[in-house]
Amino acid sequence: MMSATELSRVKDIYLPQKATVTEIYSMTATEKFFRFHLEEGEALPYMPGQFMEVSVPGFGEAPISISSSPTRTDDTTFEMVIRKAGNVTTALHALVPGEPVGLRGPYGTHFPVEESMKGKDIVFVCGGIGLVPVRSAIHYVLDHRENYGQVTILSGTRSPEDRLFTEELYEWKTRSDVNFLETVDTADKRWGGTVGVITTLLKQVHIDPTKTVVVICGPPIMYKFVLLELRKLNVDINQIYVSLERHMRCAVGKCGHCQINGLYACQKGAVFNYADIVDVREAI
Ligand SMILES: Cc1cc2nc3c(=O)[nH]c(=O)nc-3n(C[C@H](O)[C@H](O)[C@H](O)COP(=O)(O)OP(=O)(O)OC[C@H]3O[C@@H](n4cnc5c(N)ncnc54)[C@H](O)[C@@H]3O)c2cc1C
Repeated sequence: MMSATELSRVKDIYLPQKATVTEIYSMTATEKFFRFHLEEGEALPYMPGQFMEVSVPGFGEAPISISSSPTRTDDTTFEMVIRKAGNVTTALHALVPGEPVGLRGPYGTHFPVEESMKGKDIVFVCGGIGLVPVRSAIHYVLDHRENYGQVTILSGTRSPEDRLFTEELYEWKTRSDVNFLETVDTADKRWGGTVGVITTLLKQVHIDPTKTVVVICGPPIMYKFVLLELRKLNVDINQIYVSLERHMRCAVGKCGHCQINGLYACQKGAVFNYADIVDVREAI
């Protein structure tokens, strides 16, 4: 039997650590940027693609992807982008710097930036708020640029007003070692770029299927069409990673809210190798 001291050292998987909001600002009509800093407890090392349960006292908690990269922040600071959707996210939007939140995690699988992506050409396909978790992997790859082949970033949003991290998009567009292409579904008068769904961009890039890893995150409808296009380009399904959101509660494989035909998305995902779920009904 464990002693009381030993028991107290066992990390409680349901217990959030205390953090504060150190920065918050509006990015679009519905999304806000947040920087959280852990005030006490242990540092929380993470990898790109992982998420945390963020809680607001009195309101509850929600799973939110980490948008920063461990190459740019320490393990006590986390950047996130949160869309106002309901109870918890509305409470998060009402916070001001200095106010407390709880952080539980990090949870889930990660983009295999070290394991399977090194030495490969990388294509990031980001639809809308899907850019948020992928940004972490983009930063990671750009901060170890010499370890990867060609880097292509494809980004699509509904309209120019929905674009996130516009300064970073500009930076990627102007880098000589990044192929950045962007599109919007609906343009306004000032938009001089591509108009159309994100698959339009896939037709404009050269992909060598023998040495390319593709990372995809976006709205559910996007996966189907992007995957169809990739199949036409002969990209092996083992070389495709998708990040999938499911309604989630505990995040530790207990409650079953996130199950996809017996697969716990909180533990086997949110980042999946497409080969592992291609035959799982209702996964995509
Ligand atoms: C792994 C993971 C990572 C996520 N990362 C982010 C992120 O980086 N930024 C962000 O803004 N959101 C993210 N989400 C979605 C976010 O968790 C939900 O929007 C949030 O839980 C809603 O909580 P709420 O109490 O505000 O809304 P609720 O009152 O619970 O619900 C409001 C509405 O949102 C819908 N909703 C709730 N959860 C989800 C979900 N998982 N997917 C789709 N619709 C949902 C409900 O059906 C309802 O219509 C992520 C979800 C998962 C599973």
